[in-house]
Amino acid sequence: MEKSIDLVILGAGPAGLTAAIYAKRAGIDSIVIDETGMGGGQIVNTYEVDNYPGLLHINGFDMGMKFKEHATELGAQFVDEAVTKVTKDGNIIIVETASDTYKTRALIIATGATHKELGVKGEQELRGMGVSYCATCDGAFFRNKTTAVVGGGDVALEDALFLARICSKVYLIHRRDEFRGAKVLADKVKATENIEILFDSRINEIKGDEQVESIAVENIKTGDINNMEVNGVFIAVGMKPVTELFKDVVELDEAGYIKAGEDTITSTEGIFVAGDCRTKRLRQVITAASDGANAVTSVTDYLMKNA
Ligand code: NAP
Repeated sequence: MEKSIDLVILGAGPAGLTAAIYAKRAGIDSIVIDETGMGGGQIVNTYEVDNYPGLLHINGFDMGMKFKEHATELGAQFVDEAVTKVTKDGNIIIVETASDTYKTRALIIATGATHKELGVKGEQELRGMGVSYCATCDGAFFRNKTTAVVGGGDVALEDALFLARICSKVYLIHRRDEFRGAKVLADKVKATENIEILFDSRINEIKGDEQVESIAVENIKTGDINNMEVNGVFIAVGMKPVTELFKDVVELDEAGYIKAGEDTITSTEGIFVAGDCRTKRLRQVITAASDGANAVTSVTDYLMKNA
């Protein structure tokens, strides 16, 4: 079926949901397309969010659902489908899913980011069999077991702290001797007895027969390789933007982020970008929400000018 609309928002994370809230309040005829069905974005996989004003110690899942409830209560309409194609024909942007085609005057891309892979032997083969990218989703399977977390950012630090409450032992493996993540988290990690930090180290191989059994860990400085027995490996080495589908309609930077400033205006008229897939310095819930609000302000101006 073909439908005409004023605004399509792609993604129902904090950026997309904030855009949906602002669009409803601005009286813009809009829909949100999100393939997960649930919405909430990456934050639903976070154990605790401590830096969003007014919501101290909120669980990430609850936070994502609160955002969704807010948009739903204001009347936001959701389509639970994956987008397959985006093209532009004159002033109209055509957004296709498996079952429908939406002809929209404006588009906000808020598809966020997904985890990066480590790219070592055994990672693909043992994915879901001890190799995970989400500690809060899969951590419970490793009660009283030994796990390793790879990475040195906020996510790796949070994952190590989360797993330390469940597992008997957690190795935190980082390629440098200094964490990238917040000092407050790093201090907590260092003070946690069952977390052992392996600085200047990398995993060369994840081994196991149908289930992770061990990892080969190399000390980058000495070249020593240690075979360590672990039951699970949690990979937290950063994110990559979900923008592949848009590379022919908007300009991306070399890392795949959609180029735009705080006004969220992309290289293509009528297309705006909000949240983690935009070029920016700080990618957090608060900046994603801010982008959602700014995007609708830019959309409102654009629709008025092109009425
Ligand atoms: P990140 O900050 O980009 O950190 C990625 C980490 O993985 C870095 O320590 C990096 O090492 C390491 N790494 C990258 N590629 C690697 C490889 N191939 N092998 C081994 N290690 C590798 O990513 P993130 O932790 O996923 O966080 C993403 C964003 O979300 C950040 O902006 C973060 O601040 C934000 N976030 C915020 C919160 C919060 O505020 N509560 C919570 C979670 C996430 P190097 O340090 O050597 O580069």
